[in-house]
Amino acid sequence: MSEEGHCEKLVGSLYQLLDGEVTEDQVEFLQEHLEECGACLERLGVEMHFTLLVRSRCRDDQDCPDQVLLNIKEALQAEITA
Ligand SMILES: [Zn+2]
Repeated sequence: MSEEGHCEKLVGSLYQLLDGEVTEDQVEFLQEHLEECGACLERLGVEMHFTLLVRSRCRDDQDCPDQVLLNIKEALQAEITA
């Protein structure tokens, strides 16, 4: 198994997700990977779940809280570069 490649893909997809540029398939991949990969779940799980939550709300309301997404991005950046 090449978990590392998957993890890199996940981080890339997560950034796309934050930019609102992912497809439903990618969201599914992200969710599945987080369920399978303890390392990513530990590292990105909180931000990821929060992001998905925000994005699903955005779709309903058409009222995307940009500041919330920005905060997640910053938290994520700090996590990754730490
Ligand atoms: Zn992973």
